[in-house]
Amino acid sequence: MSKLKQEDEKEKPKEGLVDGGHVIIKCSNCNKPLVDVLIVKPNEKKSDGTPFIWKCVAECCYCSDKSFITEIKGIFRAAGFIVEDKENSEHYTEITNLDDIVIDEDNILFKTSRRK
Ligand SMILES: [Zn+2]
Repeated sequence: MSKLKQEDEKEKPKEGLVDGGHVIIKCSNCNKPLVDVLIVKPNEKKSDGTPFIWKCVAECCYCSDKSFITEIKGIFRAAGFIVEDKENSEHYTEITNLDDIVIDEDNILFKTSRRK
């Protein structure tokens, strides 16, 4: 009798850098994409063992309204929103700069401007 291969049921090892995916923060009023957030360490914890959970709001550079509050977990990198669709140059109009990030405890405010 041949042995059946034993499947390893161990949990997959977690890498230090996890691509937690992109979160696009959009304006609650005009629905334009404002900030592109890339979550790089979704399971990162603070020194006291609690997870990072940020309540993020972006100021809209198109209509001066704001996004809804978006909760983001872990360590992230944020950038302006860029659509690079070379076949449709219209898409270049929806480009934002991330000018400033204001952090107040767990609250984060992204300030954006239009890139022209
Ligand atoms: Zn807006």
